[in-house]
Amino acid sequence: MVRHVAILCAVLGLLTAGPQPGFAAPQEQDNAKREPAWAKVWDSPATEAAIQSLIRAVEVDRISRHLFYLSKAPLPYRKLNFTLPGHAKNTLYEADDYLAGKLELWGYGVQREGVQVQAFRRDTTKPKHAQYSRPMPEDPWYTAYNLYAERKGRSRPDEIILVLAHKDSQSWIDSPGANDNAIGTAAVLEMARILAGHRPERTIRFLFCNEEHTPWTSVTAAENARKRGDKIIAVFNLDGLGGKTAEETARGAQTNVTAYTEPAGRRLAELMSAVNTRFAIGLDQRIVQRKAPGDDDGSFVKAGYSAAVINIGSWPYGDPNYHAETDIPEKSDVPNAARVVQATLAAILTLDRDPAS
Ligand SMILES: [Zn+2]
Repeated sequence: MVRHVAILCAVLGLLTAGPQPGFAAPQEQDNAKREPAWAKVWDSPATEAAIQSLIRAVEVDRISRHLFYLSKAPLPYRKLNFTLPGHAKNTLYEADDYLAGKLELWGYGVQREGVQVQAFRRDTTKPKHAQYSRPMPEDPWYTAYNLYAERKGRSRPDEIILVLAHKDSQSWIDSPGANDNAIGTAAVLEMARILAGHRPERTIRFLFCNEEHTPWTSVTAAENARKRGDKIIAVFNLDGLGGKTAEETARGAQTNVTAYTEPAGRRLAELMSAVNTRFAIGLDQRIVQRKAPGDDDGSFVKAGYSAAVINIGSWPYGDPNYHAETDIPEKSDVPNAARVVQATLAAILTLDRDPAS
């Protein structure tokens, strides 16, 4: 993700998240109106059982194996401008092959959408976390791919719940990008595995995009969805799961922040909090509001899909290894990420079964 935007928005978000009478009252009314709908969804023993069983299916070890494959061995990075010695494809294409291979193994068809992008240049005069800088037109161009897979809905297939993660690592630096964002990629892959045998009412779509090359391929994904007239009712972006401050890591905090941009996104953020409580997932779960769209969820907000959120480990993002060579998988908190997978699954299933959504 890109933190310079996030920090500003986080500050603004904190300012607006406080007890400001004029702002808080309508939201509370909103909650009162909507929470019973979810409680009603959960009152169904079949739905309750389905959610519990999906949550129990999340495997920390599987997420960990994907994470290490994608950010250590065999792939130290996932970028278009780095190819391992003796290999025919660059490391981002190799990551694509890994993801597509798993998805196909589980019975999904995988769609690819090519986008022309460049690697960022590096400006070492800037702070470490923000050294990406604009490429020149004469720098190499590459085709980066968005990968899509989906479970078609049974009764409302035209209504789409989208779960996404950017799969590339930082193109301007040799960082494994474990927390940013091999962990989110591994998390979405685990969600796809678990949902492979599940038949939803609405369509659940998975998108693996790119955000550490330029332009971001999530922009094309969102614009094409809009052009097709896709009815995307919710967007969950998983980025930087479990990435948090050294202090939070030291005390073993299991964190998640759900950040939304527009009011329609707040409902999803509140749902994340509600499922965390209802299903005793154990996250220290917070909600913040961005003042402007950001990250890959922001690409969808800008395309008119305002029901969009990011799940991220901290806000402002506090990972001391952010955009550094030291963002390695050994430092990732995989159990924390697994809890976020559980909560996101529970939220998706709840939305899927909500007659009113
Ligand atoms: Zn990033």
